[in-house]
Amino acid sequence: MHIAMIGTGYVGLVSGACFAEFGSTVTCVDSNHDKIEQLRRGEVPIYEPGLQELVEHGVRSGRLRFTTDLASAVAQADAVFLAVGTPSRRGDGHADLQYVDAAAGEVAKALTGYTVIVTKSTVPVGTGRRVANLVRATNPLAHFDMASNPEFLREGSAIGDFMRPDRVVIGCESERAREVLRELYRPLYLLETPIVMTSLETAELTKYAANAFLATKITFINEIADLCEQLGADVSDVARGMGLDGRIGKKFLHAGPGYGGSCFPKDTLALARTAHDAGSPVRIVETVVAINAERKARMADRIIAACGGSVQGKTVAVLGVSFKPNTDDMRESPSLNIVPALQHAGAQVRAYDPAAMHEAAPLLPGVTWCTDAYHAAQGAHAVALLTEWNEFRGLDLEQLGGAMAGRVFVDLRNVYRAEAMAAAGFRYRSIGRGPLRGGTA
Ligand code: NAD
Repeated sequence: MHIAMIGTGYVGLVSGACFAEFGSTVTCVDSNHDKIEQLRRGEVPIYEPGLQELVEHGVRSGRLRFTTDLASAVAQADAVFLAVGTPSRRGDGHADLQYVDAAAGEVAKALTGYTVIVTKSTVPVGTGRRVANLVRATNPLAHFDMASNPEFLREGSAIGDFMRPDRVVIGCESERAREVLRELYRPLYLLETPIVMTSLETAELTKYAANAFLATKITFINEIADLCEQLGADVSDVARGMGLDGRIGKKFLHAGPGYGGSCFPKDTLALARTAHDAGSPVRIVETVVAINAERKARMADRIIAACGGSVQGKTVAVLGVSFKPNTDDMRESPSLNIVPALQHAGAQVRAYDPAAMHEAAPLLPGVTWCTDAYHAAQGAHAVALLTEWNEFRGLDLEQLGGAMAGRVFVDLRNVYRAEAMAAAGFRYRSIGRGPLRGGTA
């Protein structure tokens, strides 16, 4: 099978490399010449564990290639996946479909023979049918079927998620197209991966519903964390006690600074807008969006409070700026709220992130970028742990404290135990774990 993957970003590159590993011949297309040139030189433009090796393997096998020439990639393809971005539209929160529409228009002109056009991007309900109409209008002779195959991979564990997914969702109304997609995902049948075959609209909505539910779960535990602080309870134990219930599940019950990333913020917003326009508002999701935005905006206040109410003239060491570990993705990262707010309050910020500093530097001006956590802590009055990278989980607290000008540690990911921090002489603040010692934060 020949695949053209239109859009070689986080989803397109991972999906393309994984389909090549499954045995298909994949041409990854991107309109960004620099990105394609980089990939042709063997450089993977994003940080994703295992991706460099997978891409190298795909290229060596002859089943993975990169081009800016969409037309020739599409002409040879049995299936064309649209994996371009669908960011929030400025102003109203709807998904911005300009990249999908532009790609679909180009694909339409390049189609030869029977082809399945598949939306892998997260797109609002109705987009698949709209894209099909657009293709038909552009190229009335095109012989194609439309399918929706939303992607559920998570950055940081994207390859495992793609290769061993909990399920694959395929929205499609043609048996011929279903056969093509079944063939592409055939290796997953051996793993007995559930394949949900459904309509275009249902597949599109399933993706939004899944993301909105996960965002709701995070927001729920964040509010319970705030309540824990008022009541003297420990949110880590509450989450464990809840999560061990099979009906609830342990995942996405980690209290923190509020969800960020390239998907949850824009997808919750887009779902809320779609539902509103459909006259069937999802008020729970609207509330989640509002609570999360407020939470992210308030997080710097916790750090400032932990520093005694002011960071004017103080130095704060920030550990981790990506929106989660194992990615360099900065989209909607809580650090983008927190760091400027600290600077605005008069703090000098020294920061270190194992992978995202290159992406973060232009977004966070005025930050002193450091070589590791201890370097960031040099002369700092407080450390703020924003992203729970593994290398921040076992810090030598003596060494860290020894380098600092003060001993405040704000742990927005609940990585450390209060006892260990107290033993190392730190004034420690975390999220939702009992009454706050030595002041309110
Ligand atoms: P991305 O911004 O990393 O990549 C999109 C790529 O598409 C860019 O490289 C861009 O240059 C390219 N592009 C845009 N228009 C093009 C065109 N006309 N022709 C060729 N290339 C074009 O985006 P992403 O994070 O990979 O997300 C893609 C889609 O997948 C979005 O809808 C997103 O919601 C969804 N998704 C993302 C994730 C994730 O974790 N990032 C997970 C699941 C689903």
